[in-house]
Amino acid sequence: MIRRLISALVALSILAPALAAQSVPTPRDHFGFDMGEDRKLANWDQLTAYYEILAERSPRVVMESLGPTTIGQPFVMLTITSPENHARLEELHEIQMKLSDPRTISGAAELERLFDTGKTVVMITHGIHATEVGGSQGAARLAHIMASSHDEKILEILDNVIFLQIPSLNPDGLQWVVNWYNEHVGTEFEAAPLPWLYQFYTGHDNNRDWYAFTQNETIHTVAAQNEWHPQIVHDIQQMGSNGARIFFPPYIEPWEPNIDPAITTAVNQLGTYMAAELTSQGKKGVVVNAQYDAFTPARAYMHYHGGARILSETASARLASPTTVSPERFGPGRNFDSSRRSWNFPNPWQGGDWGLPDIVDYQTSGALALLTNAAKNRRYWLENFYGVNKRAVDKWDEWPDAWIIPGGQENQTGVKYALRSLVMADVEVHRAESSFSVGGMQFPAGSYVIPMNQPYAGFANSMLEIQYYPDLREYPGGPPQRPYDVTAHTFGYLFDFEAVAIDGHVGVGLSEAIEAPEFDFRLPDHLAGSDAPRIAMYKSWQEPMPEGWQRWVFDQFEMAYDTLHDADIRGGVLSGYDVLIFQAQSAESIREGYDEGQLPAQYTGGLGRQGVAAVKAFVQNGGRVIAIEAAAEFVADLFELEVSSVTAGLSNTDFYIPGSILRLELDPSSEITEGMRSETAIWYWRSSMAYEVDDSRVRVAARYGSGDPLLSGWVLGGEHIAGKPAILEADIGDGSLVLFGFQPNYRAQTVATWPLLFNAMRK
Ligand SMILES: [Zn+2]
Repeated sequence: MIRRLISALVALSILAPALAAQSVPTPRDHFGFDMGEDRKLANWDQLTAYYEILAERSPRVVMESLGPTTIGQPFVMLTITSPENHARLEELHEIQMKLSDPRTISGAAELERLFDTGKTVVMITHGIHATEVGGSQGAARLAHIMASSHDEKILEILDNVIFLQIPSLNPDGLQWVVNWYNEHVGTEFEAAPLPWLYQFYTGHDNNRDWYAFTQNETIHTVAAQNEWHPQIVHDIQQMGSNGARIFFPPYIEPWEPNIDPAITTAVNQLGTYMAAELTSQGKKGVVVNAQYDAFTPARAYMHYHGGARILSETASARLASPTTVSPERFGPGRNFDSSRRSWNFPNPWQGGDWGLPDIVDYQTSGALALLTNAAKNRRYWLENFYGVNKRAVDKWDEWPDAWIIPGGQENQTGVKYALRSLVMADVEVHRAESSFSVGGMQFPAGSYVIPMNQPYAGFANSMLEIQYYPDLREYPGGPPQRPYDVTAHTFGYLFDFEAVAIDGHVGVGLSEAIEAPEFDFRLPDHLAGSDAPRIAMYKSWQEPMPEGWQRWVFDQFEMAYDTLHDADIRGGVLSGYDVLIFQAQSAESIREGYDEGQLPAQYTGGLGRQGVAAVKAFVQNGGRVIAIEAAAEFVADLFELEVSSVTAGLSNTDFYIPGSILRLELDPSSEITEGMRSETAIWYWRSSMAYEVDDSRVRVAARYGSGDPLLSGWVLGGEHIAGKPAILEADIGDGSLVLFGFQPNYRAQTVATWPLLFNAMRK
């Protein structure tokens, strides 16, 4: 009798998770609609409430907040695995930590045990770009499946995988975009764009922050990745409406050279597997090896941390509203043609209706295929992960023995920025306790030493070395193949400090690995205190990302400034300011903004004639306008400056700089260059400009480097801008102008050129 009771209890306890799972509400139960219905979107408040219920009711799901988002909402991660794995999560975590650092493994027997008992750790991140609404909605569908399904495939995943799900990488934007959409759905403004950046500071660039780690959402995600070192990170995104229906890796060339070959092959096999699964399900329009490259670490943290980063990009609709794509819109893209069958696009989509149901369907299938691969190949993923990390701790032949950041450098803001990034990326950095020499060079006490035989040495090497981006052409002699993003990221140039690669033994006492320093941003004296100029920053309803990055820098420096919208400027507030800043934005966009009928009236019209006149009067009456890149044209037009772009007429086979670090020569007589050396490194990209000046009112404060201006990255036709004006000053009426041809605040990274901008901000 007793025995029978015990076995009944055992049976009951085995059944308990299943019973609990049955009470997990479906998205339809909770939201009143399915995830991925046309014109139906749940916002972040509603989604987090649902995730709380899943965590309460399903023994497979644990929910935590990793910290606040930029505007203070909870940034959430779900840990989803079998109840048995949850019960021994700490032990599984320890196994993963050991495999991530082969130096901690005692021998072959222990290694074998780790391979036998470990689990594949997979992180899936959704909705980094809030207007790509499928990801964050599909996240709830995926979480529900994983929390409740008894399908054998799902159980296999739960047994073999620890699934870390970040259901939104940008909850702030999700909340804004969904509320905006729900407010306007069914009106003429259905699917109208949100008139401000959906990540408060960075907008779409929130996906270019994976080595600078400036935003809360990046910081939390990287901390979670460092906590677990997933073998796979899947980033679910959306692309334009007109080409393939979904993209999976392999990525196209170039791949950044510090990525381990076994990461590349892992990415290739997994992406191709996902494509195979979807194609076998009859889904059309799946493309691999197209469009997206793997060069910049700004989008690929995991490639330097033992993990495969799988980007998927599904074709968008109009937010949650369906669209119709006519086949005439298909054509050549990068490395495929969406109108034609090819090996990497074997089953073209014929066009027609496309909407949120399709998007969520494709994305969910992709995610489940990825999790299935992770589960079925558990041992491969663990062995491959260990192998990548082992090669790193043994040091690659291509890497130096160590990188040294010499102590006592002038720009401590830059040194600390770099150290912060390296240490946050789990790179071990030590301080030398006394002076030493290695490789024939002397280094003072307090120098930082980064030995290159450590797990994430590849990250350090990539960030510290100079980039030599390959000269890729669309065909021999043809135009350059456009990089997906940019071609350079050398910390020493961006942050203005010296780092030295050395070979040889560093024979000096070293500290324990240092903690990440905080940012060390100090406002120049002339911008602090009651005497500081009163600064205004123009904030358009077509808000450009550089304007957001600029606000981030100002906020970090705790600089006083106001942001002004069109109506403020039209209303005459400029008389209360000394300096007005226009970040990179075209003259047309500044003047005209959105057209009438595109958005509700308060967001249309730009500065308008009245606002433009107010800016003109502001300068005539003694104000200073600082205008950057495209905005400089707005200002040049306004005052009829005789300046032009020297590269305006050049074809892209003659001149092309897609995002590189160049040399700038400074004129010491300008107050804008005060306190700076005679040369510095600057950021130049597609929206940058070099000038021809034919106007006696205009002075040149800096020129692009003469000879070969390239420092890192890739330049085609650099001779066209060599020695040409880069920063212009002009006195107009009682006021003045400063025009920057390049971007002095590239994604909050160009510490080297911040002083130029700060110096320009004067009464
Ligand atoms: Zn995206």
